[in-house]
Amino acid sequence: MQWTVRLEMTTSAGEVTTTELVTISRPAVVSTLAEVGLMLDETKALLAKLQAGMLCGQVAAYAAHHRACAACGVLQPLKDRRTRRLQTLFGTVEVEAPRFKLCCCRQPAPMAEATVSPVCALLTARCTPELERVQAELGARTSFRDGARILEALLPVSPTNHESLRTRTHAVALQLEADDRQAAAEITAVRDDTAKAAAADASRPVVMLDGAYIRAVPGQQTRNFEAICGKVEREGQPTRRFALVRSVAEQPHALLRAALRDQGWREGDAVTAISDGDPALPALVRSATGGPVQYILDWFHLSMRVQHVEQVIRGLCALELPPLGPLDRAQTDVERLRHLLWNGHHEKACEALGRITSWAQDIIVLNIPVVDAKARRLVARCAELRSYIESNEGALIDYGQRSRADKPISTSRAEGTVNQLVSARMNKRQQMRWSPRGAHRVLQVRAAVLDGQFGHPAIQLAA
Ligand SMILES: [Zn+2]
Repeated sequence: MQWTVRLEMTTSAGEVTTTELVTISRPAVVSTLAEVGLMLDETKALLAKLQAGMLCGQVAAYAAHHRACAACGVLQPLKDRRTRRLQTLFGTVEVEAPRFKLCCCRQPAPMAEATVSPVCALLTARCTPELERVQAELGARTSFRDGARILEALLPVSPTNHESLRTRTHAVALQLEADDRQAAAEITAVRDDTAKAAAADASRPVVMLDGAYIRAVPGQQTRNFEAICGKVEREGQPTRRFALVRSVAEQPHALLRAALRDQGWREGDAVTAISDGDPALPALVRSATGGPVQYILDWFHLSMRVQHVEQVIRGLCALELPPLGPLDRAQTDVERLRHLLWNGHHEKACEALGRITSWAQDIIVLNIPVVDAKARRLVARCAELRSYIESNEGALIDYGQRSRADKPISTSRAEGTVNQLVSARMNKRQQMRWSPRGAHRVLQVRAAVLDGQFGHPAIQLAA
């Protein structure tokens, strides 16, 4: 049995041209399941021929249309026939790119090129935007090598090497970053007071930030470097992610500004930022907004440190000691700590920590060998929590009240973003090492892919 696939092209003038693409043969009576239906190799060959046929026809029609002088309509004389190669998802196609002598009705400037090449003007890049987008998306989702293998396995695309995937991912990242810088520069201030009042009433955008460490390639100054990941949330809006490696981002604050802009933020609007105690993170938000920022210390990170104190006291109480006055009093205070911090009484919490420390020191004086190490650990944990509270004093709030109002109090959602952006592509494979620049660029594309920006037709990715 034999099947022939033909491509029939009909021009706008109604002329029909038929080209034979492929012929597929099979025994009249197949003997195995493997012989049933179209095979991958046949499909790839068919797609490549179909693409070449369609593209060459389109480009030839384009060149023919532009051969007529735009001013007088006379056909411009052919100077020579050249070719151009265009990489597509369905193979690299060589197309004719004829050059025409400029019509004599148009006086070229002295020394100026007196020829025109409409096809070269059309093919502004070496690849189609679609190929660039698919390569970049694969490069952001999986390793460059795996991405190249997937493409090669399924499509007649060329080139299929991983360098090509890396180059395209980087190119798209640069484009995304440039778009963000432009969007950041275009943000306008809220001018009239009514709009300002309306903005204050509406839910504020909440920026949740978290850091992640990425293993560096040999030759970098450090073994690890930090990537800042985050998301901007606002009621009724889809979440917008962003990520950056500060040392290589051209304008780190512009990336955050662009994310805020997408959530309807305007210059001067208040923003809420939640992060752990790292002072670099709120500083980034301040430099991005240049306006009021309510900074909240992440409840999860605070709660973890309270838990460290609770664990030590539980260990002490489990020792089955004879009744110890100082231990009982310390336990009572530890039990109040979480409640005090949750309700925004951080000064009272610090007083309680001071008392716990002094009870613990009273226990150390008793010189009981099994207790000594644990009591010392209690002192150390209390000191840690206290200095954490003191260094983040301005960022402690009434978490209970905010939580009851159904507003976010934790970066746990930002940590999810870290997992999506960094861990899944950069940490889990232990052998993977990154240059700060390479990681930064892949993160730009990953954030865009996860936000669904790649499905958006408005994004023009090819250069
Ligand atoms: Zn002319």
